[in-house]
Amino acid sequence: MGKVFYVDVARCTGCYNCQLACKDEHCGNDWTPYAKPQPEIGQFWCKLEEHVCGTMPKVKIHYISKPCNHCRNAPCMAAAKDGAVYRRDDGLVIIDPEKAVGQKQIVDACPYGAIYWNEELQLPQKCTGCAHLLDNGEKLPRCVEACPTDALRFGEEEELKDLIQGATVMSPELGLHPRVYYRNIPGKFIAGTVYDPETQEIIEGARCHLSNGAKNWDVYTDDFGDFWFRDLDVGTYTLRITAPGYEQQMFENLNTAQDINVGDIAMKKA
Ligand code: SF4
Ligand code: SF4
Ligand code: SF4
Repeated sequence: MGKVFYVDVARCTGCYNCQLACKDEHCGNDWTPYAKPQPEIGQFWCKLEEHVCGTMPKVKIHYISKPCNHCRNAPCMAAAKDGAVYRRDDGLVIIDPEKAVGQKQIVDACPYGAIYWNEELQLPQKCTGCAHLLDNGEKLPRCVEACPTDALRFGEEEELKDLIQGATVMSPELGLHPRVYYRNIPGKFIAGTVYDPETQEIIEGARCHLSNGAKNWDVYTDDFGDFWFRDLDVGTYTLRITAPGYEQQMFENLNTAQDINVGDIAMKKA
């Protein structure tokens, strides 16, 4: 049990309020024993990642808010000497700003890149979960409170159990058991546009059939001639486009390690 964060990526508008609120709360403010001031530049304890996927004009953007994961199995704790990183009873992982002075190895121990080195103070620093606010009776950290869309949530694991059940965590293969849960991180996409090169008109209603082993999907081009297959796993796909009166078009070995814009697909008359 203990505190958890929950991030619904589908609700995130990329407003950056969370990142700014964290700065506002921690820059210039000394919250010892939980943290020395966060520097104005170079550190983002609440880091908002922008993901631009695909190529023009088939581009999708999503944002992912990434505070420290407050891992249940935290390598930053193992790397610290003299108990300089510890876990509170509520699960939050804290870098002690007195004991951690000079311990740069703590930065390198985090595989998520959540810890920053403060050169001036010779101190590793990161998200505290706003423990100073929680101790003061506040229910929410500043980043969560500032989120206008409820994309960020925070609370007792038991209270949020319906949200976090089935949600994912970052890099689960590391086995660190993060306390930050994510839902609706977009999968990969394959998209394109179907048109008739003779008439220079788009083709609406063309059937686009995608397959990957035993899995199959069908979509039809919309009134812009566009098709999208969304939330695909990384893998190799075959795409077949058919439309009445036209020869079919095949695309093989489409690898979704990256999102794919197949581009403008010219259909030859049959
Ligand atoms: S995300 Fe990094 S800094 Fe945070 S608890 Fe896990 S290992 Fe430590
Ligand atoms: S919980 Fe507090 S310290 Fe952590 S990212 Fe949010 S605002 Fe910053
Ligand atoms: S405040 Fe909420 S909506 Fe805005 S960027 Fe952060 S998570 Fe997304």
